[in-house]
Amino acid sequence: MENEKDTIAAISTPIGEGAIAIVRLSGDEAVSIANQVFHGADHLESVDTHTIHYGKIVEPINQQTIEEVMVTVMRAPKTFTKEDVVEINCHGGLASVNRLLELVLSRGARLAEPGEFTKRAFLNGRIDLSQAEAVMDLIRSKTDKAMDIAMNQLDGKLSKFVNQLRQELIETVAHVEVNIDYPEYDDVEEMSHDLLKERTKYVSNEVERLLQMSRQGKILREGIATAIIGRPNVGKSSLLNSLVQETKAIVTDIPGTTRDVIEEYVNIRGIPLRLVDTAGIRETEDIVEQMGVERSHQALKQSDLVLLVLNYGESLSEEDRKLFEAVEGLEYIVIVNKTDLEGKLDIEEVKRLAGEQKVITTTLIEDEGIKELEEAIADTFFEGEIESGDLTYISNVRHIQLLEDTLKALADARQAIDEDMPIDLVQIDVTRAWELLGEIVGDTLQDSLIDQLFSQFCLGK
Ligand code: GDP
Ligand code: ZN
Repeated sequence: MENEKDTIAAISTPIGEGAIAIVRLSGDEAVSIANQVFHGADHLESVDTHTIHYGKIVEPINQQTIEEVMVTVMRAPKTFTKEDVVEINCHGGLASVNRLLELVLSRGARLAEPGEFTKRAFLNGRIDLSQAEAVMDLIRSKTDKAMDIAMNQLDGKLSKFVNQLRQELIETVAHVEVNIDYPEYDDVEEMSHDLLKERTKYVSNEVERLLQMSRQGKILREGIATAIIGRPNVGKSSLLNSLVQETKAIVTDIPGTTRDVIEEYVNIRGIPLRLVDTAGIRETEDIVEQMGVERSHQALKQSDLVLLVLNYGESLSEEDRKLFEAVEGLEYIVIVNKTDLEGKLDIEEVKRLAGEQKVITTTLIEDEGIKELEEAIADTFFEGEIESGDLTYISNVRHIQLLEDTLKALADARQAIDEDMPIDLVQIDVTRAWELLGEIVGDTLQDSLIDQLFSQFCLGK
């Protein structure tokens, strides 16, 4: 394991990118190392904490100027890592930033491991684990809304909530202990059972609520995987283009997957829609014809949402009916397009086929109906507005697993009560739930797990 005391350095480019790059140092030697390569009016080792200084970075051996910089000096403990931190802001390209990094490394700093800044913040008690994980989500978040949620978690809302639930459990356990040790009532056993049952039910409900929100959190971070299907010429490409124009799609290139997928994100009221296989829509136009109903259904199962497009100017065809079969059991919205044409489509029949699912009418050449579609999407996934302000979303696989394990432990406790098991056995399950919740905030976590978690972080954070 690396020495926790040495001074670490990495390029840490701020979220949102931009022309400025930052080399960040943290540790006892951070200021003196920066000072060795800095030429400016101020001597960095004697400046006030949390001040910014203009100057040049000069190679100490050959006196060559590398960069014009602004250097921020932040002395422990009021820093991200609770150690001395120096941030060197430079506006040059990647090459000069790399030279700057090499320079501070040659002066005694060590290259930070991925996530090591955040790890130090955690180990030094600056943030708890769920906050540390929020930093990671923040780096990955794709829309403002997802960013808000990550920020919320960073504020410690999740930790606070989880700690309240833990408190509830531990108090209940303590209460039961006292009852058993100093029985005021005749039937201590039964009273304790009632209390445990009621309190574990309460905590279970709260955990369920968090998990419910986590599903929304996942959608916000990863996007709603959306497929657009329909017969040739109904307006799939027009729909895609309308959504993309309306919302300025973010196109991401994800290398390293089985094939290099181009994903397109559109932002619908803060909800990222990940348009799946848009290349497929553009090129082949009709996956059902190409793949057959059964196989296309398999492919469609990967999506969270299907947009099924029909043509108002034509009566419902056999192919259209096959599409309804293909999306059976999935979340989908029917879009009846080309409402400017003379109506041949039996809308009532379409509504019958759609059942619970929504039917929207559009005239995509006029860009009409997109607002209604956006509303329908928002309603489908969030029942109206997203309340990112008040709610804490769990946005992390590890947290979700722990919450589900917590639910199971609490269910075991209630089952033990129902089976009239001795109180001690019930308490074991309740204590287990308490421990599991503790792992979310990092209270009961082993070292190896901590190392593994932080190694997932981006370098420089
Ligand atoms: P796709 O084959 O399903 O992708 O359909 P396209 O989006 O390529 O559209 C096929 C044709 O229908 C194009 O000529 C579009 O301009 C036209 N189209 C799209 N939306 C409408 C609409 O609302 N009304 C009418 N009249 N034509 C439309
Ligand atoms: Zn098309």
